[in-house]
Amino acid sequence: MSQVNSSLALSNPQQLEISALQKVALALVGLGLLVLIIAFAGAQVVSSWVMFRISFFGIAMGSLLYTQQEYKNKPEGIKNNGVFFKSISSGGVVAWILGIVVTGFYVCLYWFPALLEGIIRMHDGLSMILRGKIADQWFVYGTFYTVAVLLMGIKFIYKYRHNKYQTIRTLSVMFFQLGFAYLLPAFLAAMNQPEEYFSYFWPLDSYALRPDWIGSKAGIGNFGYFVIITGFLLPFVVTPILTYLYGKRWYCSWVCGCGGLAETAGDPFRQLSDKSMKAWKIERWMIYSVLVAITLLTVLLWVNHQTHNNLLGGITEPYKKTYGFLIAQMFSGVIGVGFYPIMGSRVWCRFGCPMAAILGLQQKFFSRFRITTNGGQCISCGNCSTYCEMGIDVRHYAQRGQNIVRASCVGCGICAAVCPRGVLKLENGSVDIDQRTEELKTIHISADEVGILEMDA
Ligand code: SF4
Ligand code: SF4
Repeated sequence: MSQVNSSLALSNPQQLEISALQKVALALVGLGLLVLIIAFAGAQVVSSWVMFRISFFGIAMGSLLYTQQEYKNKPEGIKNNGVFFKSISSGGVVAWILGIVVTGFYVCLYWFPALLEGIIRMHDGLSMILRGKIADQWFVYGTFYTVAVLLMGIKFIYKYRHNKYQTIRTLSVMFFQLGFAYLLPAFLAAMNQPEEYFSYFWPLDSYALRPDWIGSKAGIGNFGYFVIITGFLLPFVVTPILTYLYGKRWYCSWVCGCGGLAETAGDPFRQLSDKSMKAWKIERWMIYSVLVAITLLTVLLWVNHQTHNNLLGGITEPYKKTYGFLIAQMFSGVIGVGFYPIMGSRVWCRFGCPMAAILGLQQKFFSRFRITTNGGQCISCGNCSTYCEMGIDVRHYAQRGQNIVRASCVGCGICAAVCPRGVLKLENGSVDIDQRTEELKTIHISADEVGILEMDA
């Protein structure tokens, strides 16, 4: 099934019309984007700091006003009416334009930062306040990323406000993005320390645990040793324990910045994920190949380091560069985010992230987390499968009353949030929930009821 059609996606085209206030909101967002385009073109109408504030105000206020108008009168429950009628959320022309613009931004960011000079200078004022030095392209990227997670996070919370799990989970990704991936590194920079990102670690952070990484951290004293110790503890101690207790969702849907962006800015595109068996097959091949590639790279770099380049010579250098170009830049950045409007929001998490691969193995083979299903209640509407961003055909399991224990499930809980019958439940089993689900599948008829049936007959 390439796309599971949702009956609730059908809607009156009039519902797609927008109010006057939403038009004002779009005008504000347009103004903010226009200022960015002017800066990109190298023109400077007013000072860069003023341009930044106009752009930020326009985009932030416009987005919040649009969100408020969009959801204020909508009842609790599923709010995806019309997604397959809108060009932006159904892979139409607008989606392609957006995809090309975002992809183009990533290409400039990685390989042609000089093209972003005007936009970078716009951020000098903010960078001076937060980091005590002028902006570079990575500060601009971090600012865009964080603003996107926060604004779209507010939209997401408004949309799913009937669901406590979604509200708390989204507040969590907003907190980790703002605090751990944006403000803390900026604060460290202001203190003349290296900008550390504690919410990213090996193998997602492909630089972590390399010999040169350890050497550079050890060179800065106590803080460096703290970074090295946490760099080992997080993947090898903290991760297995939390994944055993809560599944991979503790990271993929509550902490990770990639997941945070996918869950917030990527929410309008979650239905675009490919649900076919072929995609599932490709997913398994690709994600475990990337995990092998980063593990091999880290091992080879250590072998090279320990043998003083005598054993492997110069072969690790091109391998390192190829991994950096193909996986860290092309896949996780350009394709992973730029292709949201075309391929869905979790392309990187599903097909490429080595962290998701490890967490998935742990989740599948030793974790208490699973999604339990009450098959007797399922009406086969397909909402759960349609809105699963990881391309899992949830309905297939729900119809059979089977628990869902899939390596790729990031525990976002959207399948449960959009189910009109309350069939699905995300659980950290402390009792034998597999057995309990078997119980639910069994229809118990008492002797009295049999008697009634016989009498009716
Ligand atoms: S199965 Fe449900 S919880 Fe898991 S990724 Fe899909 S929508 Fe999210
Ligand atoms: S589990 Fe819920 S959302 Fe999924 S097909 Fe059944 S009734 Fe629909």
